Amino acid sequence: MKLLKLTLAVALICLVSCAEKGSRDTAEKETAVTEAPAEKAFKYWTWITADPERTDDSYQEEFAKYKDNGLDAVLINTNTDPELLGRLTPLARKAGLEVHAWLMAMNRPGDSVALQHPDWYAVSREGKSCFDHRPYVDYYQWLCPTRKASRNHVLGLVEGLAKVEGVASVHLDYIRFSDIFLPIGLLPKYDLEQEEELPEFDFCYCDVCVAEFEKIHHKNPREMENPALDIEWKQFRLNKIRAVVNDAYEIAHKHGKILTAAVFPYPEMADHMVRQRWDKWDIDVVLPMIYHNFYNEEIDWIGFATKQGVQDLKYKDTELHTGVYVPEMSPSEIKEAVQLAKENGAKGVSFFDGPALTDDMLQAIKETKEGR
Ligand SMILES: [Zn+2]
Repeated sequence: MKLLKLTLAVALICLVSCAEKGSRDTAEKETAVTEAPAEKAFKYWTWITADPERTDDSYQEEFAKYKDNGLDAVLINTNTDPELLGRLTPLARKAGLEVHAWLMAMNRPGDSVALQHPDWYAVSREGKSCFDHRPYVDYYQWLCPTRKASRNHVLGLVEGLAKVEGVASVHLDYIRFSDIFLPIGLLPKYDLEQEEELPEFDFCYCDVCVAEFEKIHHKNPREMENPALDIEWKQFRLNKIRAVVNDAYEIAHKHGKILTAAVFPYPEMADHMVRQRWDKWDIDVVLPMIYHNFYNEEIDWIGFATKQGVQDLKYKDTELHTGVYVPEMSPSEIKEAVQLAKENGAKGVSFFDGPALTDDMLQAIKETKEGR
């Protein structure tokens, strides 16, 4: 595993160097090839959503702006369109950026293939399917991670993106269940109180999930008085998400790509809120969304949550790169966030999202890159 990662890292460095036609420090390449790998530079990423209507020129301009301000990588959401990704990848790489194929995994709103199969959708404890009953928001339409057909559909999308030439990773987002607890800072927006696991937000109680669980544990979650207290039932669901991730890892690697994911702030919190235990996954890089503003936390919490995750990955090859939510931050807070991520063991920092980065913010990012 270590050796494979090393080979991959070297391969990636070569790929990037070649693409940049000498714009990158060539010493880094030589060191990586001839000696033990040098300490990798702290990486800067940003998430962007592609619009097929936009011209190549406008993308070239956007990518150049990121590169000029110290960013190294873009995570591009193409709505799982390999063709659009194939069009944008060479443009980003020409600008000197690494490209990651960002997709919405288990939450697939308006997925035209999935919509032909109402039984693929996750079912709440109330018995309502995400097919026609969306929890919280209109764009929540979750698939069941247990059913063969629905999980294979997601994995097929992963494979489609993994095949795109020049892409560094497939990046899973919404790789979890629907939120059983929303971030506390978002509750007033939805006029909600969540003091316990509420049935309308608790998934998946479809026939396949229930039958499979019953076969292993000889109890039926639909008949439990308080399923939140049943640890096997929670573990079953954590394992189902992990199984999708681990299969996605195999697929990405089969096509010479790595696997990355946007995840909840740290493993226990992810487990509690969305049934996602990412420290147990086969994955190369995690980008926890350490959005302090969503949780009514102060900025130093970025350091706390980063450290928490880094410690949990201590015995794994998985890298952690801290995700920060920029719209409500000042340029000086962005600098502070980068510093906190660095000090607490992150290997990089990712900004959500690219278009929200103002000129002042980009200047601040550039300054941190230059050690200012
Ligand atoms: Zn299910």
